[in-house]
Amino acid sequence: PAIATAEGSGATVELVGVVKSFAGHRALNAIDLAIKPGEFVALLGPSGCGKTTALRALSGLEGIDDGSILIDGADVAAVPTNKRDIGMVFQSYSLFPHMTVQENVEFGLRMRRVAPGERRGRAAEALDMVGLAHLGKRFAHQLSGGQQQRVALARALVTRPRVLLLDEPLSALDAKVRVQLRDEIRRIQTELGITTVFVTHDQEEALAVADRVAVMREGVIEQIGTPEELYTTPATAFVADFVGLSNRVAGEVVGGKALVHGVALELLGEPQPDGPVTVYIRPEDVALASEGIPATVIASSFLGSLRRTRVRLADDSFISIQHDVDLKPQAGESVHVRLKGAPVSAVPR
Ligand code: ATP
Repeated sequence: PAIATAEGSGATVELVGVVKSFAGHRALNAIDLAIKPGEFVALLGPSGCGKTTALRALSGLEGIDDGSILIDGADVAAVPTNKRDIGMVFQSYSLFPHMTVQENVEFGLRMRRVAPGERRGRAAEALDMVGLAHLGKRFAHQLSGGQQQRVALARALVTRPRVLLLDEPLSALDAKVRVQLRDEIRRIQTELGITTVFVTHDQEEALAVADRVAVMREGVIEQIGTPEELYTTPATAFVADFVGLSNRVAGEVVGGKALVHGVALELLGEPQPDGPVTVYIRPEDVALASEGIPATVIASSFLGSLRRTRVRLADDSFISIQHDVDLKPQAGESVHVRLKGAPVSAVPR
């Protein structure tokens, strides 16, 4: 596409031992993160874990106390935000309300003293890319939230940056628009090959959109991996809880297998010593059956192409089961639960 960077691809981005403290509290506690050109990485974690601080450090809006930040191998410590070759989109619509859409998008080019003719052409291209070519003359305050974020994206991309930083850009939007715009951001990002860091606290969003997800907790990255890796082999209980829709079940490692309610299951990941563990079992790896572990149905919900049923076991633990819509268990019903035998991950308890 015409708007692609001259180089045609994104930059590498590296954080090496990055430390940032606020009033003695380490918001970033020695973060290491290496992002490949054109890669889409999500920073995922609960409120206060340091996601935004990491992004602001990358952008230069926030200085760091220790470590280094490299863009295409060059330390950017002394490089101000507007010279870092990045585009940014924030949660709140940061458009100038009394400028037109076109003027908003042209703004960065005007600051760079790009000639008016070229400015208009490039802004029009950027608006076309986000599907808003027809709205250039509207004022920003006359747009819906989703449209405003599209303009913000066009404005971030119009200067042809090699890195795109997105800080919860979808969280103010309603569910349907959120999914649409998420998919569109991914499409545009792939087309441009721009290296992208996307901050979110929504695990579904992170898993859906990113090449790799870095799960953050209290200023450190607990695990980084592809969505599949995080989902199937969470490295810690925190990651499993935060990323998975998994059931947590008490079990025991015996001779390299996880024993759960008398069933021996293969363990994913590194071999583990014998001892008590919490086992993570996905709802699709459990079935309702005519025999197995006795349980009582708590609730069953219809989810379109499948059903999810929550049951209580004799030891008062709960398990969610994903199953066919034809099966309609009733609350209070006595049922049996069968573990299908899929390999599981477990962490010491
Ligand atoms: P959220 O999703 O709520 O924005 P986050 O993961 O992005 O959370 P940060 O905003 O990066 O978290 O904040 C990390 C920690 O640093 C928090 O404890 C926060 O209170 C603190 N912090 C961030 N910015 C500042 C600041 N300017 N002054 C003081 N403390 C700050």
